[in-house]
Amino acid sequence: MKTAFLGLGHMGLPMAKNLAAAGHEVTGFDVIPAAVETARAAGLAVAESGTDAATGADVVITMFQTGAQVLDAYRGEGGAAGLLGVAASGALFIDCSTIAVDEARAAHALAEAAGHRSLDAPVSGGVVGAENATLAFMVGGSDEDFEAARPLLEAMGRRVVHCGGAGLGQAAKVCNNMILAVSQIAVAEAFVLGERLGLSHQALFDVASNASGQCWALTTNCPVPGPVPTSPANRDYQPGFAGALMNKDLGLAEHAISATGVDARMGMLARAIYQDFAAGEGVSQDFSGIINTIRAESA
Ligand code: NAD
Repeated sequence: MKTAFLGLGHMGLPMAKNLAAAGHEVTGFDVIPAAVETARAAGLAVAESGTDAATGADVVITMFQTGAQVLDAYRGEGGAAGLLGVAASGALFIDCSTIAVDEARAAHALAEAAGHRSLDAPVSGGVVGAENATLAFMVGGSDEDFEAARPLLEAMGRRVVHCGGAGLGQAAKVCNNMILAVSQIAVAEAFVLGERLGLSHQALFDVASNASGQCWALTTNCPVPGPVPTSPANRDYQPGFAGALMNKDLGLAEHAISATGVDARMGMLARAIYQDFAAGEGVSQDFSGIINTIRAESA
């Protein structure tokens, strides 16, 4: 089975390498020549173009930044052939990029109209998860296509969840990250409030981590140094998960909230807070660094 892997960036390259290491026949490509050279130097087979990589492929995996990039690559731009036009008939298209639910559904529709099968399969777990093949995949598409993709996804990740039909992998991702953003802000506000009340970080952690305030933003990504030695706060807020990426995901949440009319005031507030954070030095800091903004802006 021939697999094309397009988008060899921070996430895509280690994912493609893990797929090849598991014995799959993988050909990679990226529009950035330096990324292709890095992949070649890492031992991955590479092609001269996306369509070269995808010609006759049974599986086409994409790991791009945006939905527009996915749709353009599927369709082809400026009269050039797209990936859908060159893959083997009935090929399985798996898009692992984080994109909007409606863009994912548009990608499914294009693939189906071209006689192919398709899944949206965004991930969580970051670059470390991509490197160690411990990603979590959230997958949207048919039962059959999910089962066909499972061995490939399991070569790149540890947890693979079928969330439902087309677009529902992206829906799960956007909902999860909205919870994460809101809870990271709540935890940061609580630590700053505790500081003002004279409460030590460790005491608040010891109570909340064993009480109803317990959550990942506290027990893994603790925004103050000390209580969780592996959290980004202990290394000057180096990501982790950068503010820019959280802001991107909240942009997708905002899009989904306005499309559905949900009264998600906390989600929208988190979006506004992280938009400001990512417009400044938070762009490259871990998103738990929001605590420094909250502290600085407190009277
Ligand atoms: P990245 O910018 O490092 O990589 C994306 C790559 O896609 C780039 O190298 C770009 O040149 C390439 N690309 C774009 N269009 C292409 C095309 N038509 N053909 C071939 N290559 C093309 O981004 P990343 O950090 O690897 O993230 C990829 C996706 O994963 C994003 O949607 C992101 O939101 C999501 N994600 C990232 C992380 C993370 O920690 N980096 C975590 C979870 C999810």
